[in-house]
Amino acid sequence: MSFKSSKRSIELNEQVEAFMQEHIYPREHDWQEFTLDHNNLWKVPDWFDGLREKAKAQGLWNLFLPDEYKPWSPGLTNVEIAPLFETMSKIPWAQAVFNCNAPDRGNMEVLAKYGTPEQQKEWLEPLLAGDIRSAYAMTEPQVASSDATNMELEIRRDGDEYVLNGRKWWTTNAIGDRCKIMLVMGRSNPDAPRHKQHSTILVPRNAPGIKMVRALRVFDSYHSPGGEAEFLFEDVRVPVTNMIKAEGCGFEIAQGRLGPGRFQYAMMFVGLAQRCLELMCDRAEQRVAFGEKLSKKTSVQHEIARSRCDIEQCRLLVMQAAEKMDEGGLEAALPYVSMVKIVAPKMCQDVADRAMQIFGGQGVCQDTMIPEAFTIARFCRIADGPDEVHMSQLGKMTIRDYK
Ligand SMILES: Cc1cc2nc3c(=O)[nH]c(=O)nc-3n(C[C@H](O)[C@H](O)[C@H](O)COP(=O)(O)OP(=O)(O)OC[C@H]3O[C@@H](n4cnc5c(N)ncnc54)[C@H](O)[C@@H]3O)c2cc1C
Repeated sequence: MSFKSSKRSIELNEQVEAFMQEHIYPREHDWQEFTLDHNNLWKVPDWFDGLREKAKAQGLWNLFLPDEYKPWSPGLTNVEIAPLFETMSKIPWAQAVFNCNAPDRGNMEVLAKYGTPEQQKEWLEPLLAGDIRSAYAMTEPQVASSDATNMELEIRRDGDEYVLNGRKWWTTNAIGDRCKIMLVMGRSNPDAPRHKQHSTILVPRNAPGIKMVRALRVFDSYHSPGGEAEFLFEDVRVPVTNMIKAEGCGFEIAQGRLGPGRFQYAMMFVGLAQRCLELMCDRAEQRVAFGEKLSKKTSVQHEIARSRCDIEQCRLLVMQAAEKMDEGGLEAALPYVSMVKIVAPKMCQDVADRAMQIFGGQGVCQDTMIPEAFTIARFCRIADGPDEVHMSQLGKMTIRDYK
């Protein structure tokens, strides 16, 4: 357990930090004002693409894709990637500036890992270039989707095409016109064993038969510009060449997609929580109540101390997961990947909650990123599989290990 950062990772982290200071923090409020204005639904501010171009020109681009995905990967190990994620996640929308945001990140990894050369040319390359965006549609309203084998959307072969019929919801990123491709999971082989019944298939966002039923609000807010939506698929036809890997591999792809993605996700929570901590320290030093700064009050000191402990514990756990992944691949890292999925969002939720309390009224309005950190952390205890599912998986692995 060394977590020794390479010279390259340290330098890149300094560059990401400098970029955040110069280009992202100064636009934090602009972004909030723009995206929360309902006249701007599903649009990005006009300066946003310019920032992406700058990040790309500086080589701060696609840093999420680990070494094993060369030639597309910039060649970093998971241990090298993790600290970069902390830095670029201190503002929730910043990952997109570096082309490192979910769900594009996981989708690009799927295409790099399983895509045919034709699929990679048509969809992976424009995604890596940042020219288009993508969505991942697994969850369905009518079934408990924490169990991926429950999915009912039908994928039926008809000659040289597959025909899709069914309903999806909570599809992130699919609303704005930047989204051009969806990775859709559905049931193609109902008679196969349970974990071999499903497939993942590429569906252009504008394919005839896809109807957006509604945009969903998260804690009463549309996640513009990407959004989350409910979709109806009615006789949607795609060529058979759009199948990813092979029929029956949907469950495997859903699992594989979340490997490195999980610890990058977890490091995002470390970044969000660290920012909340920095903000609350600053606030505690400035705000005076009942004749003394908040920072002089023991209860505030304890909340800050508790937050620092929680963040540092989580950071080390994420680094451990990254190191296990580098040394032994996803199989070796699996218990750690479950651990970080369980620990990180709850840690961030708790830290954001303390920050809100220390900020008082300002802590719940749009003046800081604290409410966003809180709500992201809260819904991520459900999204990508609820806490309980990961607890059960980890519990089973742990019992097996000690048997
Ligand atoms: C903001 C947001 C974005 C999302 N983005 C996407 C996306 O891009 N693509 C996509 O496909 N999906 C997405 N999702 C959906 C998300 O992955 C699902 O909501 C999640 O997998 C849970 O499925 P469900 O909602 O059907 O809950 P259910 O499966 O109905 O579970 C409900 C509750 O039952 C309990 N439970 C379930 N299983 C167990 C168990 N084994 N043990 C004990 N208790 C259990 C848990 O408390 C759980 O919260 C998103 C969700 C949100 C909120």
